Amino acid sequence: MSTTDPYHDAAFLNTAMICDSCTEVLDSNDLSGGPNYPEEGWDQALGDAAKERGWIVSEADDAIFGYVVFCPSCAVKLRK
Ligand SMILES: [Zn+2]
Repeated sequence: MSTTDPYHDAAFLNTAMICDSCTEVLDSNDLSGGPNYPEEGWDQALGDAAKERGWIVSEADDAIFGYVVFCPSCAVKLRK
């Protein structure tokens, strides 16, 4: 795995941000006017959008894709 931003890597690998704890999904349909294809920087745009909206992406060796992903509402629960 590269040393790039885990948000960008997770977006690229999963093609969407999918919460590990509920059914919340953030995908390219949620990016208004953003790029739609990886070659246009789509994965970075999705990663940045997730970051701005409060999603949590962190590396985890035992996760399927190497990352755990939580939506903003599950992230709030985790912090409690
Ligand atoms: Zn969630």
